[in-house]
Formats: sequence, C-alpha cells, structure tokens
Amino acid sequence: MVRKGNNIDKILNKLSQKKEMPKSAFIVLLILYFISYFLVTQASRMSGSITINDAVIEYRSFAGVYSMVGNICLICLVMLFRKMGYFVTIALLLIQSPILLINIFVRHNYHSLPGIVSLFLIIIASTILFLSNRKITRYQQSIREQAVTDSLTGLPNRFACIELIQDYIKHNEKFTIVSVDLNNFKSINDTMGHETGDAVLKEVASRLEYLADSGYSGTNDFVARISSDEYMLILSGYESAEEVENSIDAYKNEIEKKITLDNCDYYMTACFGYAQYPENGEETNSLLLYADTALHEVKKKGSGSRILKFTNSLISTEKDLEIERKIRTALSNDTIFFHLQPQYDMDHKLRGFEALARMKDDDGSFISPDVFIPVAEKTGLIDRIDMRVFDLASAFLMQLNDPSLVLSVNVSVRHLMKNNFIEEIQNILTTRKIAPERIEIEITESIMIDSAEKALQRIDEIKQLGMQVAIDDFGTGYSSLSYLNNFPSDTLKIDKSFIDKMNLSDSSKQYVAMIISIGHILDLKVVSEGVESPDQVTVLKNIGCDYIQGYVWGRPIPPEEASSLAGAAVQTKN
Ligand code: C2E
Ligand code: CA
Ligand code: CA
Repeated sequence: MVRKGNNIDKILNKLSQKKEMPKSAFIVLLILYFISYFLVTQASRMSGSITINDAVIEYRSFAGVYSMVGNICLICLVMLFRKMGYFVTIALLLIQSPILLINIFVRHNYHSLPGIVSLFLIIIASTILFLSNRKITRYQQSIREQAVTDSLTGLPNRFACIELIQDYIKHNEKFTIVSVDLNNFKSINDTMGHETGDAVLKEVASRLEYLADSGYSGTNDFVARISSDEYMLILSGYESAEEVENSIDAYKNEIEKKITLDNCDYYMTACFGYAQYPENGEETNSLLLYADTALHEVKKKGSGSRILKFTNSLISTEKDLEIERKIRTALSNDTIFFHLQPQYDMDHKLRGFEALARMKDDDGSFISPDVFIPVAEKTGLIDRIDMRVFDLASAFLMQLNDPSLVLSVNVSVRHLMKNNFIEEIQNILTTRKIAPERIEIEITESIMIDSAEKALQRIDEIKQLGMQVAIDDFGTGYSSLSYLNNFPSDTLKIDKSFIDKMNLSDSSKQYVAMIISIGHILDLKVVSEGVESPDQVTVLKNIGCDYIQGYVWGRPIPPEEASSLAGAAVQTKN
C-alpha cells in the first residue's frame, strides 16, 4: 500500500501549486524574449527609415523598443517563476555579456557600452526582485502553514482536511471521514486546569498521528485536530467496510490506553461518527455534516458502541418535513394501511398476527416504517397512525373464523401517555365488537425508563380493560429487572438484534436463554423476533422459547393473504 504520509507538506504543496503559473507561460515568455532579442540585432543592422507626418523615424531606433520588450520578458520570468525564472534570466544575460565585453575591450567598439550597462542594470534589478520575492514567498509559506496547522498540537486543521477531501473527490477516490470527540474532556480542564487539558490533547494527537504514520491501522490515514477536543481522521486505501471498522477501532483503543502526566493517570474515551464517499454523499460539506451527525447520535446514546456510521435515517429537518407532509396527506386521504406478520408457537401453529403500519410514496413505492414512524413520533402524528392501524386491524380480526387468534398492535409511548388513550381504545373495541383479550398492546421497553410511574398506571388500565400487554424490543433499552418485575405484562418480545447474534457465539446463546428463563420466572410468554433461519428455530426450541415471529415462517403480508393463512390454519387445526 502506498502511504501518503501524514505530514502537512502534501497539503501545503497542493495549496502552493494552485498559485503556480502554468509551464506554458514560461515557454511563451522565453520565445518572446528570443524574438525580441533577434529583432534587436536585426533592427540595429537595418538602415533606412519611415516617415510619418514629416517625422523621419529610423528603423534602427526600434532596437530600443525590442530591447525593452526583452527586458520585460525577463522581469516577468523572475516575478512569475521565482527561482527558476531568476536563474534562467541570469544565464541568458550572462551568455550575452562576453560578446559585449569583447566588442568594447578587444574591438574597441564603444557602441556596445549602453548594451552592457543595461545588461548589468537588468541583472541587479532581477536580483533585487528575486530576493524580495523570496522573502515574500517565505512569509506566505509560513502564513499558509499556519492556516492549515493547529497551533497546539501541530496537526493539520479543519482547513487542511477540507483541502484533502476536495482532492479525493476530484480524483474520485473513496474515503471515510471520521469525526472524533473525546468524552468528558471538559471535566479534566475543570478539575486539573487548562495546562493538563492541553497536555492531554497533545498526547492524544501524538498517539493518533503515530498510529496513522505507522500504518498499523491498516488504512491510509490523515489525522487532524478540528477544535478543542475534536479530531478528524480521513481514511482511504481500503477495500471493505470491515477494514474501516478495524481501523477506527485501532484509534479507539489507542485513545483508551492510559495517559500518564506528572505521575497522574488519566483514562480517556472517545466517540467516533463516520461518513463515506461516495456512499453517503458526494460533497465536502454534506460529508462533514454527516460524520458530525453520526458523532452526535453516538454521543447522545451515552452507552453501548462508541462508533457509529452515518445512515440516512439520522438526517432530520428537511427530509423530516417532507415525510411529515406525506404522513399528513396519507392521514387525511385515509391511505395509511397495514400489513400483518404471523406469530407461531414452536410447533408452527399460528398464534396470531402483529399489525404493522404501511404507507406509500407518491410514486407508489413503500416508505419504510423505520423512516415514517420516528417522524410521526416527533410530530405527534403517531397517535393517529396507531389508532388507524388499530381500527383497521380490529376490523380484520373480526372477519377471521378463528376466535383464538391474537392481534398485536404497536402503541407509541407518547400516544400511550395521552389522557384520552384508554377512551380511544375502548371506543374501537366497542364499535368493532372485539373481545379485549384478543388484543395485545405492544409497548417498547423504553417506557420503563422514561416515565415508569405514569406508564405503570396506564398499563394497569389497559389490563383492567382485559387486553394483553407485550414488552416490545426487549433488551435494547437499559431497564433493570426490578422494572420488569413491576411491569404487569403478559409477553416479552426479544429484540431481533439478540436473535441475529444468537448462533454466532455460545455466550450470545446463553444470553437469549437467560432472557427466556427470566421471562418464564416472571410468568411471561416469550416471543423471539426477527427469526430468519431454521437453525435459529432449532436453538430457540431447545432453550424454551414460546413463540416465533420472523421471516423464517412468515413476512408481513396484506390482510387478504393473512385471512387465507388464518383460514388454512383453522383447517389444519380441525
Ligand atoms: P417492531 O414492532 O419491532 O416490528 C417488527 C419489525 O421487524 C417489522 O418491521 C418487521 O417487518 C421486522 N421483521 C420481522 N421479522 C423479521 C425478520 O425475520 N427479519 C427482518 N430483517 N425483519 C423482520 P417494520 O414493519 O419495518 O416495522 C418497523 C417498526 O416500526 C416496528 O418495529 C415498530 O416499532 C414500528 N411500527 C410499525 N407499525 C407501527 C404502528 O402502527 N404504530 C407504532 N407506534 N409503531 C409501528
Ligand atoms: Ca412491535
Ligand atoms: Ca419489536
């Protein structure tokens, strides 16, 4: 792998190259110089004249004009091409001087005297120009260096990053921008003082730089400091997503190693958010913004993984507004609909269905619930979606011949907490003439952390109505077991992420087995969500899971298909 080096020179060179004159200008000036030199010699040998308005102008007198043009060319060479221009100019002038000197001192032709004087004057002028130009260039160089360097750590700064990013984009080279932010750095500054804070920042900088230069990270890296405790990595020269993840992991580990300053040990951690070109975006600003968005998201989470890749679902504002408009239109046009995903017991007998909201875009394609549900939650439109799905799915349930089938519906925490929630639900149950025990309300685990007291009261009310309650996405939040103990639920739904990992290691399998056992101790039925393979089914059977919901036995389907599935299930039962 070709390493580009992590020093600032490359960026500086790039910056100065921008201001460099094209080589063609050099050649044009040289040609112009030789032409004027030729014309000077020709004009001085010419006799005759032209007459303009009675003024007689000798051809010979034009020699001065040509000589002036030649000198201007030389001055331009020194000014525009600095060192090279200067040396070429001096060489050209010195080559002429022996001829002129021989003319004067050997041939005693004193006509050459003005020539030699002007030649030396030009040499002096060029030298003065060159020397002062060099001073300016050095000054500019140091200004430029300051402009792309962070003064505390000596690392390149944000401006340098932008230069490099633009260069990569110009050459269509894939790369990853990683925004890095130290956790709790402020507390070091506050408790130990700014001097220690600065020393920590320098230590982190040198570790990052060392790792980048050593090549141990496995990718081709550029390290910069962006602002107080924020750094940026630009990774390139990788083939797979795994290489990028490993590389970021290497930086994470490097930062987390103990820092010893003045006999005191410090333990730093950092969060990493990253975005990739061209996958996530093709413009510098949006890529920088996306890496920051991912960083803020991972910082917000506060625990779990400290590395997050940008995904479109993290973009809010403009896109959200567009989605919000689409949800409003769909609600007022009554075009929100639902699909049903079957749930089975371990003998593959149908238990019931989970109703999942669906919405279409203007072009008829589906908008994923992962996109519109979060927007609906933020804007408060989720209540109307929940109720619409509940109502439609209840009507569906009443058409089924099998009274044992259960319908699970999702209710957002925000909706659940509304004062008229129970009333709304009751209205639907009454209008649709549904036995409440056939409805299972799915509530995400997060409710137990956010608003435990009020939530418990609301869940009690649901139970009093006779409905069942399921804890959805179990394992993704950080609820403690004591909450689970108090939560008057009937079913526990293990989140797909645990099922995904289950067959990859023994400890992951044990973890799922433990959740199932705890569920059973608390007298809950356990549903495993997102089961995709027969192998997972086998393991889940062995560790005592009660129900399965997943692509392995059934994807979400339209109500008509669900009716025939339920009809078939009744027939097989009879
Ligand atoms: P959820 O409640 O966890 O629903 C299960 C999601 O997992 C569904 O995604 C389902 O299609 C998907 N899934 C089930 N089995 C598999 C599998 O084997 N493999 C994979 N890859 N995926 C599987 P969907 O329909 O996209 O819904 C996403 C989320 O949107 C739901 O997650 C739920 O949180 C929310 N949601 C959907 N409908 C409603 C609704 O009416 N109200 C509320 N409040 N939220 C809803
Ligand atoms: Ca659910
Ligand atoms: Ca779920």
